[in-house]
Amino acid sequence: MSNKKVRVRFAPSPTGPLHIGGVRTALYNYLFAKHHGGDFLLRIEDTDQKRFVEGAEEYIIESLKWLGIEPNEGQGYGGNKGPYKQSERMGMYRQYADQLIESGHGYYAFDTSEELVDIREKANKAGVSSWKYNHITRNSMKNSLTLPKDEVEKRLQNGDPYVIRIKLPREEDVRVNDTIRGWVVVNTKQMDDKVLVKNDGLPTYHLANIVDDHLMGITHVIRGEEWLPSAPLHVLLYRYLGWEAPEFAHLSLILKPTGKGKLSKRDGDKGGFPVFPINYTVPDSGDILAGYREAGYFPEAVVNLLAFLGWNPGTTQEIFSLGELINSFDLDRVGKSGAKFDPDKAKWYNQQYLRMKSNDFLADQFAEVLRTKGIDVDRSTLVKSVGLLKERAVFVEDMMEGLYLFEKPTSYDEKTVKKKWKDQTPGIMKDLGDKIMDSEPFVASNIELIFKSYLTDNELGMGAVMPNLRLLLTGKGMGPSLFEIIEILGKKEMTTRIEEGIKRITNG
Ligand code: GLU
Repeated sequence: MSNKKVRVRFAPSPTGPLHIGGVRTALYNYLFAKHHGGDFLLRIEDTDQKRFVEGAEEYIIESLKWLGIEPNEGQGYGGNKGPYKQSERMGMYRQYADQLIESGHGYYAFDTSEELVDIREKANKAGVSSWKYNHITRNSMKNSLTLPKDEVEKRLQNGDPYVIRIKLPREEDVRVNDTIRGWVVVNTKQMDDKVLVKNDGLPTYHLANIVDDHLMGITHVIRGEEWLPSAPLHVLLYRYLGWEAPEFAHLSLILKPTGKGKLSKRDGDKGGFPVFPINYTVPDSGDILAGYREAGYFPEAVVNLLAFLGWNPGTTQEIFSLGELINSFDLDRVGKSGAKFDPDKAKWYNQQYLRMKSNDFLADQFAEVLRTKGIDVDRSTLVKSVGLLKERAVFVEDMMEGLYLFEKPTSYDEKTVKKKWKDQTPGIMKDLGDKIMDSEPFVASNIELIFKSYLTDNELGMGAVMPNLRLLLTGKGMGPSLFEIIEILGKKEMTTRIEEGIKRITNG
């Protein structure tokens, strides 16, 4: 790597919500920039106004913000190489197309779209499935290479519609050195003379992309592998314009959980997991596409899991804070093959992060959830409760499972009643409850001691007592430590629940 300051960009087109594949591209750019002490830019590529979607740009910015991987320059962030939105740079591109024409690497083409459709159809009928405008066919088309000079002049002066195409050499190996894949060699005979300026005078993606990367001083282009086929064309454009090309790194796809094909929105719908960072409201239908944020994921967990979809640190460590990722990340450990998305692993990540959160933080978050359900719990009970509930939760919402800590059970797990509740149970429960009342201080460890000595003294097995006490106190057949639950409930609540529970269960 040269010693120029690293400058990378994330260059999404605002055509809809950002797929997590795009988010991963942004993340790798961010990590790479930070690792090398460089800049991370956001450029909005909206040359194709037909595909422009209102709100998509804001969605992108909000997503990056939520994930904590914000650019330090670019659209919405400022900088001295702007504007950073291509529709605001329209005057900047044409001169480079003209430069290509002058140096013999570009030409005007006057063929109408009807003519092009027609020739493609004819080729199709003749068995040529993918007709290309290239070094052979261009010789029989209407362009500044075939038409007499004065006719070209006349057409230009008349304002006849035209496009500007790149003029590719006949047969030449174009070599692209991809940091992830190594040398990729494509012969120009497999390529076509791509349009650089459209008949409305606006640049295509290819021209705008390389002009902007050059003018913005981009040193490394890190993007999805769907752009790999365009890389040879981009390399030639840099060469013909006399510019140094950036280094390229094309990231492999994120694959479906089955490993067959690209992860799609449909896979998410089927498997019940989001494929977008935050909720997205489809402008026309008002439909909502699910996002990680609203599904209850922590941004750090999403960053961590996305980092691992295509990269590994070469060790067994799986949990990485953003800072640790910045330290460890580099392109040499990014894999060539596609990374399978594993929804269970995604949840696992969230669970790990949830467990690492402080009880105070979780209490705040859980209080929000409870508030939406109209439940108000005092702070110290809440902090203790989340400490207990977090062991069994993947998302903060899951802690609703422990609602019994704040509200009396409304029903009793039938299976447990059937299997464990015996004629002598009410007597044992009352007796045990009385003993536990004596626990001083009323804390889990003490309660546990009393509970256990009660079992020994009365020659009772754990299995005959514990599930029934849990049933009375929580209504459930399973859950976290019962002694902790009793501590949180307190003496009075415990006794009431035992009494009421016995009545309700024995009366069926
Ligand atoms: N605008 C392109 C996209 O939406 C970016 C391609 C690139 O990064 O060069 O994916």
